[in-house]
Amino acid sequence: MPLLEVLGVGKSFGSLQALDSVDVTVEENTFHGLIGPNGSGKSTLLKAIAGDHLASRGTIRFDGTDITNLQPFERSRLGISFKFQITAVLPELSPYDNLLLSAQAEYSIWPLVRSRTKDSLHDTVMEVLERFSLIEYADDLASSLSHGQQQWLEIAMAMMRKPKILLLDEPTGGMSPEERRATGELLLPIKKECSLVIVEHDLDFIKDICDHLTVLDQGQVLDHGTVAQVEASSKVQEVYTTRV
Ligand code: ADP
Ligand code: MG
Repeated sequence: MPLLEVLGVGKSFGSLQALDSVDVTVEENTFHGLIGPNGSGKSTLLKAIAGDHLASRGTIRFDGTDITNLQPFERSRLGISFKFQITAVLPELSPYDNLLLSAQAEYSIWPLVRSRTKDSLHDTVMEVLERFSLIEYADDLASSLSHGQQQWLEIAMAMMRKPKILLLDEPTGGMSPEERRATGELLLPIKKECSLVIVEHDLDFIKDICDHLTVLDQGQVLDHGTVAQVEASSKVQEVYTTRV
């Protein structure tokens, strides 16, 4: 059974059909890229999966549950973690505290006052800081981090919830080429723990880290398959050479 199944999903905004009969399947422990021209519906699809938008038509199944009409917090509890394009980092807190807060959003407050839970949370926070190359800035103000580091902190915050799937919308926007390369290296190890659906403009970046791609065009799936299959697709080449 796939981890995530998007089946015939449509989303209308008034008379605009942002998504039209979209099918996407994501297996466990795989990275899935969403590409396509501006306005093709990539962000809308991520939001429909996260519950930020409700699908107007179709079904979304996650880990055996029909989540089509669930609230975002219910989807989050089932293991869907979404990092938005807009920042969620609290700039006046340290990276350590940002991570602690995002973990606490998932647990009830009572177990937290018991020291054992606090200690294990501390260990988890330190481990995640280490993993996202933020350990040396653990107690600095988050606002003093570089743009790229703030993006990594947000990804780290999303990972604190131990998701089964992580949704990222253009995480490398505004990053230097060096930060982009580092982002790929930071993301790859999480494949052992969860799946990823990622929207990216940088095709080289997405080709390097993804197993499968879905290409959207005007709200419809233009093509999908392995990176090699999509690269060889004449339909995709036509869209990318003539319209992007
Ligand atoms: P992408 O992320 O691929 O650039 P989007 O999913 O943001 O595209 O947008 C797809 C289409 O839906 C665009 O035409 C956009 O203007 C429209 N759209 C997206 N969000 C909304 C909204 N909240 N209200 C109205 N129209 C929207
Ligand atoms: Mg978008």
